[in-house]
Amino acid sequence: MQLEFTPYILPFVVSLITTVGLALYALRHYNPAARVFVLVMTALSIWTFCYIMELSSVTLDAKILWVKIKYLGSATAPVLWFVFSLYMTNNQQRLKGPLSTVLATGVILTWAVVFSHGLQTWMWTDIRLKPGFPETDSDHGFFFWIYAVLCYVCILASVVVYFNFYRTTSRFFKQQAQWLLLGGFIPLGGRMTEDLLGLDLIPKVDEVIFFFLFSGIFFALALFRYGALKLVPIAHHLVVKNINAAIVVLDLMGRIVDLNPYAQRMLGPEQSGSIGKTPQEVLGDRLKLATFEEIPQELTLMQGERESCFSVQYSPIREQRGQVAGHVLVLFDITERKQAEMQLAHIARTDALTQVTNRRYFYELAEPEFKRINGTEGNLGVVMLDVDYFKKINDTYGHQIGDEVLKHVAKVCKNSLRSTDLFARYGGEEFICLVSGGNAEDTRSIAEKLRQALAETPLELPEQNISVTASLGVAVLNGAAKSLDELIGKADEALYTSKKEGRNRVTLSTVLGTAEIYG
Ligand code: GH3
Ligand code: MG
Ligand code: MG
Repeated sequence: MQLEFTPYILPFVVSLITTVGLALYALRHYNPAARVFVLVMTALSIWTFCYIMELSSVTLDAKILWVKIKYLGSATAPVLWFVFSLYMTNNQQRLKGPLSTVLATGVILTWAVVFSHGLQTWMWTDIRLKPGFPETDSDHGFFFWIYAVLCYVCILASVVVYFNFYRTTSRFFKQQAQWLLLGGFIPLGGRMTEDLLGLDLIPKVDEVIFFFLFSGIFFALALFRYGALKLVPIAHHLVVKNINAAIVVLDLMGRIVDLNPYAQRMLGPEQSGSIGKTPQEVLGDRLKLATFEEIPQELTLMQGERESCFSVQYSPIREQRGQVAGHVLVLFDITERKQAEMQLAHIARTDALTQVTNRRYFYELAEPEFKRINGTEGNLGVVMLDVDYFKKINDTYGHQIGDEVLKHVAKVCKNSLRSTDLFARYGGEEFICLVSGGNAEDTRSIAEKLRQALAETPLELPEQNISVTASLGVAVLNGAAKSLDELIGKADEALYTSKKEGRNRVTLSTVLGTAEIYG
């Protein structure tokens, strides 16, 4: 093959060295976007090399041969260009559908037309030497325009992809996104300038290669300067975007600087215009928090009718010199966990049959109250209640009805008490009540009220009514007791006295001794 040097090839040789260099450089990075970048640069290199050969060849046949081989690169470059934009912006999953088939078909069809003898006229109706120009001149067949549209669409689509990325990316990646957008736009912008304005920026040669080359350099800047080819920033961006937690960046004044999509959803309609405001200003009454001065570990937020609970993790953002420049808040929705915890706590504290406080939780609440009042002038009393002849109720009506009687007793007692009185099932058919703030007489009259309410309220069943009575013992602190159990023991002794004296009565005892009987 006869070759002849022409100075027109020089810029393309520089271009070829650059694309090959970029391909080799990107080869060292092990991630999918870098791999596609290698392919893009390879396609550009083939394209450029063939173009150099076309310019350097002397005979028309040789030039035509290189024009054809050139399509191995020029048909794939725009498609790969688009594929690369999808990888760079983490949209590669879009290739899984019919899109990849369409793209591959476009490329293969172009090659088939270019390389088969029969179909070549679809691409070129005539190729001839252009006197004084190293390039060939040609008349195009209809398929050339299909190919041209495919190229345009691919480049345009990549610009749209970059633009969307630019629009939605967090501010940390805006600068990088700018380079990508610029790089993506050059081939389109350059081509449009030429086609629409009829300009020929570099006469006598095909400058599309240069457009792609310049873009490649911009991409390389975006990739290597901003580390886009490294997985970490993209991964960080994705984590921030997709995490099931609200991420809010605040400046030093506590104003919102950035919000991830989850936080935007959490804020709801208020999110528009939230940048530059403090969380309190944006959320108002919805934020159940007095102040944001001290960042809480948990906070509650009204979301419509629903109360949501969030755990709050807080990290200061430090500049290189270590000064705090702002704060990042990460809020995890822990509403369900909280509800489950509350449910579990309720179960752990409640007697399953009667749904009143159980014995364990009674002690948990009563112990601190006892310690607070014991040895002071304050009043604290305990009422013990035991259902009379309960065994007989079980024996007569059966265990199930016995259970109903216990529920009935608990309900009647609860209804007779103030909501502040602590009432619990002590065990079996025994109940206990802790009365704060009343003297011996007050506590006794509470016990009397319980006795009376029970005696007057039989359990009404479809077949019959069952009358229930109970015996009660009352003990109040008079001076100091050794322990809560001593006080309860005294109430139990008084209860025993009530049983002995004939049941359905109240006996008052004090820790220091005096016992009185009421009935
Ligand atoms: P007194 O008037 O002296 O208190 O006699 P009593 O029959 O009430 O007392 P006793 O201690 O002899 O019997 C209590 C019975 O309560 C025995 C036990 O089987 C029954 N019991 C304890 N817990 C439950 C329960 O959860 N459900 C039912 N149905 N019965 C229970
Ligand atoms: Mg008993
Ligand atoms: Mg009993």
